[in-house]
Amino acid sequence: MTGPKYQMHLDAIKQYDPDLFNAIEHEKKRQMDGIELIPSENLVSQAVLEAMGSILNNKYSEGYPGKRYYGGNEFTDVVENLAIDRAKKLFGAQHANVQPLSGSPANMAAYYATMEHGDTFLGMKLTEGGHLSHGHPVNFSGKWFHNVQYGLDRETEMLDYDAIRKLAIQEKPKLILSGYTAYPRSIDFKEFRKICDEVGAVCMADIAHIAGLCVTGVHENPVPFFDIVTTTTHKTLRGPRSGMILCKEEWKEKIDKAVFPGLQGGPHEHIIAGKAVCFKEAMEPAFAEYAKQIVKNAKALADELLAGGCTLASGGTDNHLLLVNTIKSKNLAGKQAETTLDKAGIYCNKNTIPFDERKPWDPSGIRIGTPVLTTRGMQESEMKEVGRFILEALDKPNDDAALSRIRSDVKEFCAGYPFYV
Ligand SMILES: *Cc1c(COP(=O)(O)O)cnc(C)c1O
Repeated sequence: MTGPKYQMHLDAIKQYDPDLFNAIEHEKKRQMDGIELIPSENLVSQAVLEAMGSILNNKYSEGYPGKRYYGGNEFTDVVENLAIDRAKKLFGAQHANVQPLSGSPANMAAYYATMEHGDTFLGMKLTEGGHLSHGHPVNFSGKWFHNVQYGLDRETEMLDYDAIRKLAIQEKPKLILSGYTAYPRSIDFKEFRKICDEVGAVCMADIAHIAGLCVTGVHENPVPFFDIVTTTTHKTLRGPRSGMILCKEEWKEKIDKAVFPGLQGGPHEHIIAGKAVCFKEAMEPAFAEYAKQIVKNAKALADELLAGGCTLASGGTDNHLLLVNTIKSKNLAGKQAETTLDKAGIYCNKNTIPFDERKPWDPSGIRIGTPVLTTRGMQESEMKEVGRFILEALDKPNDDAALSRIRSDVKEFCAGYPFYV
């Protein structure tokens, strides 16, 4: 099985702005010639690209469908309503706000709708899988609110619901946030719901990474029983680079007001159109197959790396990503592992591993995932090959000639899975 062959239309750019054209062409080649393992990335369809490049860009539509501050919105209303209706159906949501510009602004709006300055909320530590916008001290979420962070169990390197419950009882937070950016295991959302009910906290999840798995039943979907769920639309959901908020009817007014006029101005209707396409695609049976394959591929890649002597955080994966402890595995810092793989045409990001003793900018591991390779049509047998490329490269961090040989093998391998031509 190989991926589709999409043609990008860049004729005007090519003619008018050759410098820019060349940069985009080189980036396309880089995306096609390399093994992309960054778990927050994906490759979108031609229909999504076309929506984002459409004349919907030209329109000001402040407000919501039927209640705009500008004239001439009869067709953008159709566009936004398509996105809203599909989002509600896809996620089983009572309400969807499709205007957030990305994942972090969606979180900002959710906090703005639910908390006052200085209120306490619980979120996961950045170094154990949380996102910057989950209360990190350098981020608005840590500066404007009193954030108390929970972590993982030291033995299992997985969530410890009893510890989170204890912390919640002790801190009485206004809101408890689950959903992560670097956690390779399933999340028991029902347990979070129980904890929130026990302490009277708003129950919120940020499913930016796993949204595509949630809508296909590959991971439990928290939307039907959580108060508020935020997500990006460009990760496993495979849509435009953007965000979204799903919530219960009772939060609808507060969420909508927080997004506009609370935080944002005019919505990006061309990107909202891309979301409408993405949600339609995600309802197709082929997308459910895709989501299942992502996880099968992650497990196959984990098996290959474990067989090659690697140490994985929590010992493996239930979802689309793995955290490799490169210090323990190959005596390589995460940064060095990232640059080594980069030279071999294999892309990942350095990442902290649970209870990392090194710093976030110089951590002990890397984070890798399978959403992009799965979009390109790769399956378990290809993951074995990808694993071998990774192991081979990590064994030769100082051998540029060897890494460059691997790079050309990687390029040849990737040519078998074309996507954009
Ligand atoms: C990626 C991510 C975000 C941020 O999304 P941006 O679109 O980059 O702002 C927020 N939360 C989680 C859990 C993420 O993984």
